[in-house]
Amino acid sequence: LVPRLRPFTSTIFAEMTALAVRTEAVNLGQGFPDTDGPSGMLDAAKNALFGGANQYPPGPGRPELRAAIARHRSRYGLSYDPDSEILVTAGATEAISAALLALTEPGDEVIVIEPYYDSYAAAVAMAGATRRVVSLVEGADGRFALDLDALRAAVTPSTRAILVNSPHNPTGTVFTRDELTAVAELCVERDLIAVTDEVYEHLVFDGAEHLPLAAFPGMRDRTVSVSSAGKTFNCTGWKIGWVCGSPELVAAVRAAKQFMTFVSGGPLQPAVAHALDHELPWVESLRTSLAGKRDRLSAGLAAAGFAVRPSLGTYFVCADVRPLGFTDAAELAWQLPERVGVAAVPVSVFTDHPAEWRHVLRFAFCKRDDVLDEAIGRLHKLA
Ligand code: PMP
Ligand code: GLN
Repeated sequence: LVPRLRPFTSTIFAEMTALAVRTEAVNLGQGFPDTDGPSGMLDAAKNALFGGANQYPPGPGRPELRAAIARHRSRYGLSYDPDSEILVTAGATEAISAALLALTEPGDEVIVIEPYYDSYAAAVAMAGATRRVVSLVEGADGRFALDLDALRAAVTPSTRAILVNSPHNPTGTVFTRDELTAVAELCVERDLIAVTDEVYEHLVFDGAEHLPLAAFPGMRDRTVSVSSAGKTFNCTGWKIGWVCGSPELVAAVRAAKQFMTFVSGGPLQPAVAHALDHELPWVESLRTSLAGKRDRLSAGLAAAGFAVRPSLGTYFVCADVRPLGFTDAAELAWQLPERVGVAAVPVSVFTDHPAEWRHVLRFAFCKRDDVLDEAIGRLHKLA
């Protein structure tokens, strides 16, 4: 393995899920739901499978899916030409990797906000670029917020791009209009490309609003907007994602993407098109249900002795382990499955500064209520 990929030989999700399976622990580590998406979408996939949609779809994605993505994006006041400004990818993961491969090269710096989703560091490394990390800071209210001074200070003449994930995995932070305005101003001022990861765009709670960075002044044509169907429609295994952006940026991403997978998910593409057009009421009920699960798990964790941080979006809630007498959440995470039969993920693995994040665990709440209750019951044994 080449040196630049040596830090990325395994993922925390694979390792922690394997440990959870081995120990029969309740798995609140890897974020995936334990119920299926809307039946209309599943029917559409079945119909496509048996209706002959089993060969290569067109390189940019099936036209009805690109048209549905354009209609969906218009909910934010953003208009994209399905033929030149939208590309279907193998999940958001491929979209992000292809964007970085297409737009950055050795010598370029990419700003990554930590804690960061694990694929970002690997994607920057695969492109041969250099990551510059800016840490979120915990406010008095426990919210993890953007440190705008640190962000400004991280931009150098070599900075080419910034990766922005909101709603944010793993903290559950949803960036505010003020935070995103500042990011947009910085991108315009320093001529940066933004790559946004909006996979949790629909999963926001308590009136929080998802605001796409591309909709801010000066950003439409310098933003590669990435999202995917997995989180919105409970189909994380389908790996249907997409990119929206200017014709130049999308053509660049397509150049890289076509030699990574060429195409993928033929019969799933029409099903996702159906879902984007017809299943948003189902997503609304998912959102309400997840908000209740967030509350259920947060209250349970607090009752078990954790200091729980607010989560306004995603599948995840973060909890400080120090009130329980632990100092190292990573050490605890590796023991937790054996010790009480619950798996969680240490946030320090998503950072370049593990010491600063060593007390935080991430728990996934995208699970059936009985599963959450079982986990909460087991976690009470920690005290
Ligand atoms: N970005 C974030 C923030 C995620 O949490 C995930 C994981 N589910 C992904 C990207 C990957 O999305 P996909 O499965 O569509 O590749
Ligand atoms: N996105 C999911 C999480 O953050 C897991 C995805 C994966 O296993 N790569 O837990």
